[in-house]
Amino acid sequence: MVNEIVTLSDVYRAQRNIVSLARNTPTLPSHTLSELCGSPVYLKLETMQDLGAFKIRGATNRIANLSADEKTRGVITVSTGNHGRAVAHVAHHYRIPVIIYLSKMVPKNKVTAIENLGATVKVYGNSQDEAQKEAERLAQEDNLTFVNPFDDPWVIAGQGTIGLELLESVPKIRTAVIPIGGGGLISGISLALKAFSKDIHIVGVSMERGAAMIESQIAGSPVIVEEVETLADCLGGGIGLDNRYTFSMVEKLVDEFIVVSEVQIAAAMAHMYHHDRMIVEGGGAVGVAALLHGLIPNLIGPTVVVLSGNNVDMDLFSQVVNG
Ligand SMILES: *Cc1c(COP(=O)(O)O)cnc(C)c1O
Repeated sequence: MVNEIVTLSDVYRAQRNIVSLARNTPTLPSHTLSELCGSPVYLKLETMQDLGAFKIRGATNRIANLSADEKTRGVITVSTGNHGRAVAHVAHHYRIPVIIYLSKMVPKNKVTAIENLGATVKVYGNSQDEAQKEAERLAQEDNLTFVNPFDDPWVIAGQGTIGLELLESVPKIRTAVIPIGGGGLISGISLALKAFSKDIHIVGVSMERGAAMIESQIAGSPVIVEEVETLADCLGGGIGLDNRYTFSMVEKLVDEFIVVSEVQIAAAMAHMYHHDRMIVEGGGAVGVAALLHGLIPNLIGPTVVVLSGNNVDMDLFSQVVNG
């Protein structure tokens, strides 16, 4: 099946695999952003997904496709937080042994949330890349399945189910604005949208500091970027120098790249809270930041902005929204 390239039928198969664990989240109009942009803007609320982020889609689809033998041996992964939480939850649901590696950069609230799901948590290394190397080494040594957070065909197909839902709820969609970390989210959604119409414009947004996928696209091949602290912690980490899927999918499917500053991300989080009464984490708010600051000139609506998650430390959140 999916090994060399991910196809639309893989996304449809994923939709069936995830139905019992992931929600079909609402897509709602944003009146303030529509007014600001002069055309309809909708928000895809993955903030209302189970566990507060879309990652449960990919994690469920990956684990559903393990063999019985692989399930017995167990899974291992590395995460900036939300993926680890999703894998821990899904593995627990299917009673599969699970180990989650987190780097020291992962916020405490995300570490605690994963421990509470009954997974074995290992905090290792000063960056996502260091933690990943160690998790991959242990996977080899103990013959566990490494669940890549983004560069995996089943994970990409799982995230792509968001694209199918968008086509149902906003059939006239012309632009999709999507956060980019490792690129699994945007690859899956773009695959589904472009299969429907090549005219749908795909915009990928990352933070200014440490935007590994965007810098790799500019360089023409995967590059290493320094991981620095950012409000968009869930978008941090490299894309892997040996990237197999997301680099080429993003190259082929994404039309425009945008980076936003920390100040712009903070303003977007505050905007969502004060105007729409929503809690969005930094990485989930980068699309709103791009619209709010007029960074997508010639925007053609209807536009959908994916609000990818809400897992933000509440002390940090109150500091941000109170300026
Ligand atoms: C993981 C994550 C992203 C980025 O997804 P990629 O597939 O790594 O590009 C965006 N937002 C949230 C909330 C996430 O957890």
